[in-house]
Amino acid sequence: MTCAPLIDPFARPITYLRVSVTDRCDFRCTYCMVEHMQFLPKADLLTLEELDRLCSAFIGLGVRKLRVTGGEPLVRRGIMEFFRAMSRHLGAGLDELTLTTNGSQLRRFAAELAECGIRRVNVSLDTLDADKFAQITRWGRLNQVLDGLRAAQDAGLRVKINTVALKGFNEDELLDLVGWCGDQGFDLTFIEVMPMGEMEGEMRLDQYWPLIDLRACLAQQFTLTDLAERTGGPARYVRLAETGQKIGFITPLTHNFCESCNRVRVTCTGELFMCLGQEDRADLRAPLRASRDDAALTDAIRAAIARKPKGHDFDYSRQTVSGQMSRHMSHTGG
Ligand code: SAM
Ligand code: SF4
Repeated sequence: MTCAPLIDPFARPITYLRVSVTDRCDFRCTYCMVEHMQFLPKADLLTLEELDRLCSAFIGLGVRKLRVTGGEPLVRRGIMEFFRAMSRHLGAGLDELTLTTNGSQLRRFAAELAECGIRRVNVSLDTLDADKFAQITRWGRLNQVLDGLRAAQDAGLRVKINTVALKGFNEDELLDLVGWCGDQGFDLTFIEVMPMGEMEGEMRLDQYWPLIDLRACLAQQFTLTDLAERTGGPARYVRLAETGQKIGFITPLTHNFCESCNRVRVTCTGELFMCLGQEDRADLRAPLRASRDDAALTDAIRAAIARKPKGHDFDYSRQTVSGQMSRHMSHTGG
């Protein structure tokens, strides 16, 4: 039966798909991209129709949450057509349609995203200092993102800020970020920097700020209560008793979250990665392009899920970046 749900060899149901719709971006965050990125030829990217077929196939196989990412998803031409098309699945298999964005285009698109049934957005923001923002994103402007965030609020979207924790960069802004998110009514999640991409492995080790240390800093100011909430991913949450805020920690390198992993990722070229930290992948573009019928695509998805690995191999121990991935986050989608 083709519509039997996707269950991997470790009895984990696959209900969450993250799909990268482009490798391009209007920023060049230093931990994500080199300044002069070689982007993929357009013909290699899945078309919007192919993305629709692919995501719809996953939803037919039991995926209930779809996160659109990139690169910067909102710089892909015609992307709102895709969101509009995906919205047809909401309440008909899909529980949540969402995206991760750098926020630069939210002024333009927030209202339309809300019309497409999007309720929450994750917006990446590492600093509230305009100069530091320009430094870390190379090409970004803080004001544009803050304006985008206002547009998201006006459109009724809930916002979660994702902040990459970088030693010596935003360490001193920890309390400001928490306070600002509290004032704005934004949730906040910190992400540990990951060894992605072939460049700057050493720089990343320098910038590595273990979230356990960040948590200890927070605990000096606030009373933290661990929340039982689990997302099937690497996020763990605490509540700050003094403000009532929920703060998340994504610690892919120091915390073993793999046992409850419910997710897979598809790149903008149609490669299915069964695990963020492993190189094994399955090409879904060939079966997509081979026929209008989805049978081959569904078979390829099932065959790939049947070899989803138990866990990842990242390891920062002993000051070397072992298990480092040669691909960029912007390729796999963060
Ligand atoms: N452009 C969008 C954005 O920035 O939100 C979506 C794609 S971006 C690759 C997704 C997330 O990955 C962002 O929150 C970004 O901060 C994070 N990210 C990128 N490179 C990373 C790295 N080396 N380690 C940890 N997080 C990283
Ligand atoms: Fe672009 Fe997001 Fe990567 Fe920054 S983290 S360069 S905004 S894809």
